[in-house]
Amino acid sequence: MTIFIPEDKVLEIKNAADIVEVVSESVLLKKTGKNYVGLCPFHSEKTPSFTVSPQKQIFYCFGCAAGGNVFSFIMKRDGISFPEAARILSRQYGINIPVQTMSKEQKRLRSERENLLTVNRQAMEFFQSNLFNASSGKQALIYLKKRGISQETMEIFKLGYAPTGWNNINNFFQKKKIPLDIVKKAGLIVKREKKDGFYDRFRNRIIFPIFNVNMHVIGFGGRVLTDDLPKYLNSPETPIYNKSSSLYGLHRARQKCRETETVYIVEGYFDLLALHQNGIQNSVATLGTSITVDHVHILRNVIGKDGHVVLVFDSDDAGMKAALRSLGIFMNAEVDTNIMLLPPGHDPDSYLFEFGYESFFDIAKSAKSLISFLIDALIEK
Ligand SMILES: [Zn+2]
Repeated sequence: MTIFIPEDKVLEIKNAADIVEVVSESVLLKKTGKNYVGLCPFHSEKTPSFTVSPQKQIFYCFGCAAGGNVFSFIMKRDGISFPEAARILSRQYGINIPVQTMSKEQKRLRSERENLLTVNRQAMEFFQSNLFNASSGKQALIYLKKRGISQETMEIFKLGYAPTGWNNINNFFQKKKIPLDIVKKAGLIVKREKKDGFYDRFRNRIIFPIFNVNMHVIGFGGRVLTDDLPKYLNSPETPIYNKSSSLYGLHRARQKCRETETVYIVEGYFDLLALHQNGIQNSVATLGTSITVDHVHILRNVIGKDGHVVLVFDSDDAGMKAALRSLGIFMNAEVDTNIMLLPPGHDPDSYLFEFGYESFFDIAKSAKSLISFLIDALIEK
């Protein structure tokens, strides 16, 4: 049980409890001068080196160096946590601690989150093994190599493959005896409309696991190997996955963002992988949404208040529109933001693949500030 002890109650217990009295329950103490001594309960000895000071309300053993206050004594004696020790003392000294345990609902939510994270991790491993070990993943592997993704990048980002068929992940979890309603809640399977049962959400797709900064898999993105639509499919929103506050690649980008005080924001999974593979690790991707206030808030914490954001956009219409949409958010957040437009016909992925990162940085240097970008866009209109 998780117990929460308010700070003022801790002080009250500290004031009321007498360490000599508490220690005396389990150790025979003898007064010598100002202090009390006895045989240490924490190591075996024949002459007493365990000392209790009533003035300082602490204990110390000269034999084994155990020491502390009345709380630590009980924690050590009974092998319990701080809140539990506080509870024992509060009972002993008649101090009423309001019960502030986690509510049933809070507990339910916590265990649900844990279950979802476990299911996602297992699914990620399933997808990975399908990409690397199964013959079914061959086409996917060829596709990734064709797009210039190295084996190392695939492993770092734990890319996977969801095989063709309607029941692969479904069967995988059924065999593991995992309740399917959890798998459904994780967004990995979808309820059939006309029949009983479920079908796999991701089929014949490259899988990009989405991590949070604690390195937990919170969702997935999937891309077809052909030109079929939808090209990309993402996990739905779940209790652990919120698109508007998740950024793809942030778990790998954080450190470099801190060091450089700069973050590049791109739109797609492949763009992000291309940047990281080319050593531009201070980059993240939005996940099929435009930039949100939450994203900016998260990034600001990572790059610092004087940090810089570089938005990397395609110069096609869609890229331009996305750029315009996100400007207001950056302006309001007062983050130094520059806009980097790639030559027509290129996205960051294809550009890096063709011209390399030095040329990419050349363009980055000429990135426009928000204001001049806006003015240029207006003039063009
Ligand atoms: Zn001792």
